[in-house]
Formats: sequence, structure tokens, C-alpha cells
Amino acid sequence: MDVSPTTEPINPVPQFEVTPQPVQIIPTQNIQPLNSPSEFHTKLRSYSLIISVIGVFIIIFIAVIYLISPKKLAETTVASLPSPTPLITTPITNTPTIQITNFLSPTPTSTPTECNSPLAPLNVRPYVRCYYRQIKIDQLEAQAVENRISQTVGSLTIPISLVFEHSEVYKGIPIKWTKNQPLTPDVLTWLKAGIDILPNYFNIDHPVAAIISATDEELESKSIIKPGPDTMAYASGLNIFITATTAKGGSTYYPVDKTSIINILFHEWVHVVQYYEALETFTEEYLAKGRLVEAMATGPLEKGFAKEVGWVYNSDEFGDGIIAKLKADSESQKTTDYGKTKVREDMAESGALFMVCKSNLISEARILWWEKTTGESRTKFCH
Ligand SMILES: [Zn+2]
Repeated sequence: MDVSPTTEPINPVPQFEVTPQPVQIIPTQNIQPLNSPSEFHTKLRSYSLIISVIGVFIIIFIAVIYLISPKKLAETTVASLPSPTPLITTPITNTPTIQITNFLSPTPTSTPTECNSPLAPLNVRPYVRCYYRQIKIDQLEAQAVENRISQTVGSLTIPISLVFEHSEVYKGIPIKWTKNQPLTPDVLTWLKAGIDILPNYFNIDHPVAAIISATDEELESKSIIKPGPDTMAYASGLNIFITATTAKGGSTYYPVDKTSIINILFHEWVHVVQYYEALETFTEEYLAKGRLVEAMATGPLEKGFAKEVGWVYNSDEFGDGIIAKLKADSESQKTTDYGKTKVREDMAESGALFMVCKSNLISEARILWWEKTTGESRTKFCH
């Protein structure tokens, strides 16, 4: 235990060294033969005085040692120990614990420093604070985190054995399909038209890993994601997956055209942005526990949007409420029916409408939020 040397200074050794001194100062050989009783009394008084003075010095000396030692102990132990944890339990058993505790953490009742993340919303509960990173990571690190946790959080991962018949990179975005689910030339053109007008906020700051078209069987996605018959595309992890109906250019029942393809591309891309924000803002340990949905719902991106466009949280005084209700006034309600179901979908729906020049279908607050977030005007996407 490397702590023991530091305890030596405060052992009662100094007291032991000091105490015998009176004995040394009264050696019998120093006492001269006395000639008279009065001389004897004079000498006796002198010796008593000397002994008293020495005694006072000893008391002062002991008092000084006592006052200094706990602080000295704390200082030396902190310097010599790798982590503060063992300090409280090991060498301090003989010294006042309170002093040591105070020295190590001046405010022991406050939240530990590592949980005071500047990324956490102001009123968030102390334990939720620990879910936030100290600094936001960049997109490359976020992608690395996603690679590590994708299995745990249930992101759809591309089977290694999957063979793509087509693979191209358009403006930095990979587009791939298998021979069992190729995209029609029209769908590919429309997707590219969507990428052409994406604000940098999307394809530069939050790039999708790939746009992929493959069958559910090929993706082994049945157990994780069950795209319904009216699902045109879905986002999982940092990828966007195109469904069978969309890939072949729609059907009579589910027709697709340029606007709907771009709309769905933007909608799903917003979900990728939301995921990026969670990866960049929250600790990997937290996300790896499968708390992805909570992370998205509590994070500053979704919260910021929700508060500005008319969602109210049940327990918002804590800043980490998840359940939100859309206010009943007409402006708050001005989003799609699907958008009214969840904050997350409201953001995706309104973002997509904003980018296909259908801002008239969403509230002014939503338009303003998207203008602020993308740095683009509402008319930028009108041609
Ligand atoms: Zn959605």
C-alpha cells in the first residue's frame, strides 16, 4: 500500500520524541551539593521554572503538530494516489474523515464534475446529465460509435455476404442495390435530384452512410424492422433503405413520382440527422444500453424543435421529459397527420415539406425552425 509512507508524518512520533525531554533536562549529576536550605529552594525554583517553560513549549509543539498533520496527510495522499476513490477508505482511518472528504471534493453533495456536461439542457435532472458527453463528437466519430453499437441498439446492419449489383457514389452519397431489388432509372434520377438540393446541413454535416435497395430477406430485416406495405423507405442506423414498391417505381395503389421520392428521401434523412445528434451528444455507454429512442427524445435537437413548434411535455420542468402532447391551437396543429403523432415524425414531415416547397402546409414556427437549422430560405427549394 503506497499510502503508508505518507501517514508517517502524522504518527505520534514527534510527541514521543518531545515527551522525554524533561527527563533529560533533570539529570541528577547536574544537581550540585547544596550548602543551605535557602540555596536549595532557590535552585529548586529555577529548575521548576525551566521545567514549566519547556512544558509549555512541548504543549505548543504538540498542538502545532496536531493542527498541521491532517492537511499534510491529505496533500501527500492526493499526490501519491492514482485515483481518489481509495482515499476515503484506506489511510484515513486514524484521521478526521470530514477534513479529507472536504479536501478531495469541496462540495461533496453536488453532482460529480463529470456529469456537469455543457451539452445537457439547463434543467435536466442530475442523473440524466451523466448521459451527456462533455463535448460533442464529430460525424466521423459518430459513425465509429454507430459501428460499435449498431448490433446492440438494433440498427439494421448490412450482411457481409450481401452482393450489390449496382454501387455508385453520387455527390459523396453511396447508392447501392442488389439484383433482386434494383431501382428504376426514374427512381434513381429522382433520388439524385433530391441529393442535388440537399442543404449542407444534411449531406455534408449529417451524411447518410448509404442509400440501399435490397429485399427484406437479403437484409435479414424481418426481426428488426417490419416495413409496412405503405412504407416507401425507412432509416436505420445511418442508412436509408428503399422498399420494394418504391424501388420499382410505385404501384397503382402506391404511386411514386419525383416529389414523393424527394419527400421520402428528406423525411428519412431527418431521421438520420436525429440519430447523428444522439450519437454525437450522448455517451456511447448510454446508447449501447438501447436507450436510443430516449436519447433522441431528450436531446437538444428534438427538444428544441418541439418547444418551438407547439409540443408540451408532461414533466418538462426537469428538462428531460419524453412524453409530449401537441397543443390544440391551429398553428401548433399545422403539420401532417403523421407529424401529429410524435415530435420525431413532426420534424421529419415538416422538414420534408419545407424542402419540397410545400411550406404552406406547415406552421410558421416550423418553417422558421427549418430556416434556422438549415440556413436556407423557404423559397430556396421552390423551382
Ligand atoms: Zn419517419
